[in-house]
Amino acid sequence: MRDTLGGKGAGLAEMCSAKVPVPPGFTISTEVCNIYWQHQGSIPAGIHEEMVSALRKLEERMGQGFGEVENPLFVSVRSGARVTMPGMMDAILNLGLNDDTVKSLAAKSGNARFAYDCYRRFVQMYGNVVLGIAKHDFDEIFDGQKKKAKAKVDTELTADDLKQVILGYKSLVEKKTGKPFPQEAKEQLQGARDAVFRSWFNDRARHYRKLNQIPDDWGTAVNVQAMVFGNLGVTSATGVGFTRNPATGEKAFYGEFLENAQGEDVVAGLGTPRPISELENWNPEVHSQLRDIVSMLERHYRDIQDFEFTIQDGHLYMLQTRSGKRTGPAAVRIAVEMVEEGLISSEEAVLRVDPQQLAQLLHPRISPVSRKGMPTLGRGLPASPGVAVGTLTFSADAAVQSAKVGPVILARVEYVPDDIHGMEISAGLLTSRGGMTSHAAVVARGMGTPCVAGANDLNVDTTRKELRANLDGKAVRLREGDWISLDGSTGEVFLGRAETQLPDLSSGHLARLLAWADQYRTIGVRANADTPRDGLLSRQFGADGIGLCRTEHMFTGDGRIQHTRDMILSKDEAGRRKALQKLLVLQRDDFANLFQVLDGYSVIIRLFDPPLQDYLPSRTDLRIEVEQMKLRGDPEPKIKNRLQMLRRVEELHQHNPIAGHRGCRLGISYPEIVEMQIQAILEGAIRVSGQDVRVIPGFLIPSVIDRREVEHHRRIIERVAESVFEGSGRRVDYIVGVLLEVPRCALVANTIMDVVDFLSVGTNDLTQLAFGLSREEFAKFSRDYEDQKLFASDPFTVIDREGVGRLISMAMQNGRSVHPELEIGVCGEHAADPDSVDFFVTLGVDYVSCSPSRVPIIRLAAAQSALRQPART
Ligand code: PEP
Ligand code: MG
Repeated sequence: MRDTLGGKGAGLAEMCSAKVPVPPGFTISTEVCNIYWQHQGSIPAGIHEEMVSALRKLEERMGQGFGEVENPLFVSVRSGARVTMPGMMDAILNLGLNDDTVKSLAAKSGNARFAYDCYRRFVQMYGNVVLGIAKHDFDEIFDGQKKKAKAKVDTELTADDLKQVILGYKSLVEKKTGKPFPQEAKEQLQGARDAVFRSWFNDRARHYRKLNQIPDDWGTAVNVQAMVFGNLGVTSATGVGFTRNPATGEKAFYGEFLENAQGEDVVAGLGTPRPISELENWNPEVHSQLRDIVSMLERHYRDIQDFEFTIQDGHLYMLQTRSGKRTGPAAVRIAVEMVEEGLISSEEAVLRVDPQQLAQLLHPRISPVSRKGMPTLGRGLPASPGVAVGTLTFSADAAVQSAKVGPVILARVEYVPDDIHGMEISAGLLTSRGGMTSHAAVVARGMGTPCVAGANDLNVDTTRKELRANLDGKAVRLREGDWISLDGSTGEVFLGRAETQLPDLSSGHLARLLAWADQYRTIGVRANADTPRDGLLSRQFGADGIGLCRTEHMFTGDGRIQHTRDMILSKDEAGRRKALQKLLVLQRDDFANLFQVLDGYSVIIRLFDPPLQDYLPSRTDLRIEVEQMKLRGDPEPKIKNRLQMLRRVEELHQHNPIAGHRGCRLGISYPEIVEMQIQAILEGAIRVSGQDVRVIPGFLIPSVIDRREVEHHRRIIERVAESVFEGSGRRVDYIVGVLLEVPRCALVANTIMDVVDFLSVGTNDLTQLAFGLSREEFAKFSRDYEDQKLFASDPFTVIDREGVGRLISMAMQNGRSVHPELEIGVCGEHAADPDSVDFFVTLGVDYVSCSPSRVPIIRLAAAQSALRQPART
């Protein structure tokens, strides 16, 4: 009942029915949160009555009265949405304490210091969360008392000191709100409940939801439970843990506890907790009881559990259990090992891992050579894996600024939830305090951002904006903008910029998971690659072929751009052919080198596509240059030469190149360009075939509008091929296809597809032209659409199923009506998006083709779509 009770509420209810010791309580459903907001911040009387009667039941069950002086009941009030939102919303503990009940608590526990400490925490928490009084106002009073009592640490304050603190707090509340601190328990409960509902819309919760695409109308539930005290003395404690390591996935009982402490102390990163393994010595009985309970919970939920517990005077209480947030590497390892343990099936394992999370396993690592030479600044806890290289910043706002120019590492003493906007854009996170389960670590793992936490040999000074460390016995001081590197898998922090290398996917947990994925997926996953480096990566990452090789870059760069410009600026075909001849020699090598690493692959190569102006200097630059030459009095012929270039640039300039002279239109006007490419490709393929490397080149004709364009290109291809085969005395197979980018091509596909072997869908241009919006222009005002929620998502990232999707489906039907065997693939950016791939699978495409680094992610996404398919039909 997670949707109604929230994750925490559902877990508590489930544990109760399994007879796990849980403090009794009740849950106010997530729906009430929406009602609260719909009623402008009030709860209808009927619902309030239900809460009162639930409270009455709780009182009966506990044999205590809420607000009663004789035998008082104390409760905690905690938020809990359907999905975990660590630290984003509020909780309040120790409700029911007031000037009278605190005395009963002191008498019952025989520990006045404890009772007054609870009361002062309560006034502070309630004052901050419910009444909106700044935390530092309370801290000032607390620190003032510490000074007065000459106490170095909080625990040195006596019950009498704490009474003074409470007096100070209460007068602060009265001053700020004009009313005394509420003594009435029921009023406290109502205030706390409403504050939790309000916190659903606080800035950080909203931000977190946006980041994780959690709908605003899910709401949070409110859990009201009898208090158990982890701070009742040395036989009490509080802790959190996981049934497996959430960073690595290793099957080990994992967590931390803090003796004589309360509730949020551990997760907030206050104090340094002890590893849960020490619980065994501390209280062996509780340790084994806890282990039994959580293993039972893991078997029941068949997933890693993240649990919270409190030990009150030697008695264990479970406060929470939920599916644990985990890093990508942990998700993969846990899924694979649970299959090995017989807990889940391989289908379930494939469905368990969020494909986007795989990105964390595909991250580069520090190369062993680079690691050897890097000076180590310090070491912390490996809180979230991956390597981050970036410049130092010391505040979330500064990180946002610096991230505009390059990767940043946000260093803080410990994170506060308000840092979230800075954490989100940082390449890496570093804290000098806090444990593996601190909010910072949990959030970093959720975002997949590398994080080193609790690096206490580093001195992070956010006021001075510097990081002080010891390097080989010498003190060093790093400032904002200095480069550091961190390894979130080992906890190491290095000075300078580390060099990285790609991971090996040939063995290990990920290899197993992907092997299952390959068994289940029904479509091919190819890569878009145009260099041998990317070709090799495509192979390593398990691509089934190359779905798109763009050729633009083969016309630029040293030693090429000049030939390209000569070709473009030539007055006649003979001049163009002369320049192209030079490019032919270079591009034949390019293709041969690329094919060399692609043995056995089908390699689809797009013929010349970009508008010619892309290869010429900009009009404005040229105009300025000519003016400057004139002013300097440069020699006439030199000026004339530049003027000629300017004239040609003016001639070629297109106001709207997207809808202009580009794609196969260029092959119509300048067939010699594509002739050169076809020759280079076939000669390259023939060369490697001599070394037993077999590739099947596919010629992809870009931006097709009409059948006649295709026929024109097909004739050129056949003519050039015959002449190459004749010249070399060898033949290679090749195929010819159309790149669908123009809506008309989809509409008339039945008049085109019988003359080609395959159809590739270029969803980037197809979206652009279907929407009538250029990618570049839309980027300038897409924010307005986003803010007003006009498009469900960015149509250039997630395929627009309704419109563009319809065009694709039409093209497929039209095409297959005249060519049933037509091979159909998608090669635009959308092929890298799991949600869009899901749509392509339902459409029945043969393959998708994405950038090499996304291939494993899309292999998994495609398998998930295939596994979900039967349920849909
Ligand atoms: C496309 O338009 O989808 C495509 C693959 O081509 P490009 O992204 O190079 O325009
Ligand atoms: Mg395109």
